[in-house]
Amino acid sequence: MEDLSEGCHGLPPLPARLEPWMQEVLADAEGCAAMLEEHGSPLNLHDFSALARNAAELERPAERAGVRLRIFAARKANKTLGMMDAAHAAGHGVDVGSYRELAQALDRGIPAADIVVTAAVKPRPLLRLALDSGALLVLDNLDEASSLAAEVADRQETGSHPIALRLAPTPDELIAPTRFGESASTWQDWAREPGALQGLRIEGVHFHLHGYDVEARARAVGESTVLIDALREAGHRPWFLDIGGGIPMSYLDDAGRWDAFWVAHDGQGRAPGEEVTWRGERLRQVYPYHQALTRGAWMEELLRRVARDLRARDLELRCEPGRSLLDGCGMTLARVVQRTGTSDGIPLVGVEMNRTQCRSTSDDFLVDPVLVRTGGTASGPMEGYLVGAYCIEAELILRRRLAFPGGVAVGDVLALPNTAGYLMHILESASHQLPLASNVVKEGTGFRRDGIDALSPMRP
Ligand SMILES: *Cc1c(COP(=O)(O)O)cnc(C)c1O
Repeated sequence: MEDLSEGCHGLPPLPARLEPWMQEVLADAEGCAAMLEEHGSPLNLHDFSALARNAAELERPAERAGVRLRIFAARKANKTLGMMDAAHAAGHGVDVGSYRELAQALDRGIPAADIVVTAAVKPRPLLRLALDSGALLVLDNLDEASSLAAEVADRQETGSHPIALRLAPTPDELIAPTRFGESASTWQDWAREPGALQGLRIEGVHFHLHGYDVEARARAVGESTVLIDALREAGHRPWFLDIGGGIPMSYLDDAGRWDAFWVAHDGQGRAPGEEVTWRGERLRQVYPYHQALTRGAWMEELLRRVARDLRARDLELRCEPGRSLLDGCGMTLARVVQRTGTSDGIPLVGVEMNRTQCRSTSDDFLVDPVLVRTGGTASGPMEGYLVGAYCIEAELILRRRLAFPGGVAVGDVLALPNTAGYLMHILESASHQLPLASNVVKEGTGFRRDGIDALSPMRP
């Protein structure tokens, strides 16, 4: 197979790890151009075959450690219905963050027992739908608990609804402060209030930490088991502990390239041709695109610390991975429409997409795009930046300077690899009345349109 990184690479390069399905798509230039012609640019391609493999990587160490593990795919990381289908087909649940996410999961046939509602804000209609369906609610705070109590009281049903309590672990040098959840003592006090738990039953304790540190998770698990013990002593019967998401993954195989990038970044000059990022502006908040400890190995490390405590209490371990479950499941294609430059001479490649269509909370997506040549007349070799459709000066698709050693032509296709986790959807906007990107999912030998596009508020 030809080297897919030949047509375009960053300066310095950060070559993507490409799944076989991505290589197959990228090897067919005509096919790529035809899909953009049919569905518009940009286009989000999905092939969820890696999802079950990613989940199995988490399950193996749990099995070895004698711990029951249940995985819930965090829906917010990718909006397709195909993502839920894939999680469900592989025997996993779904973690939902809004009314619509919950309604769509139920409509899709995901049983309520396989859904966990962790939404940061839970308006009454969401509480009602969870109660109607039987989906487990993760209670975040005392006001939410009061709203839920009021909803439950309105129904005068017999029986009880499953909930979990979101613990805000005590901040320390490893655990960052969080706006989510309540302290263990707040929950214990609440559970003692007469009537607080009327019509509810506590099934578990949940937390979700910022960052990826295994030691921080182990510490939060310890604090959760203390809360679980106290709740059990008070007569409740929590039986699971949910560690949320934040399970690490790597976009890059090569640790050396990652380190070299940072050396170049930190030492970059500002002169044109010497800079690593747009106008030499430093990146501050970035996802660790290469990490030493990912998925299976990370889970093994965590269980080495906590498996005994979980087994001793007969607790099921739950997790809600988003990004790391979607590793290898998506790729974004965009059409090259123009080659221009700034008035001070910086070469630009304009693509038919905008910067919200490959973006997360990270300052940049630190993975090299792949250039698919489609036979048009190429420019000479060039180095410059990828820009998009929003009428903003710094409308950069990627902030890194890129090399196109064989030039680039109008009509070429640029592929952004491994974008299924957050990059496609979490910040996408339809400003300028530009339509949202279409989403397609692998089916048989081709790709079919995902049902979410018909449900999108932007589409008639
Ligand atoms: C965002 C989120 C997740 C998923 O996090 P990842 O980093 O994508 O694994 C899981 N649970 C909750 C409560 C979240 O807010």
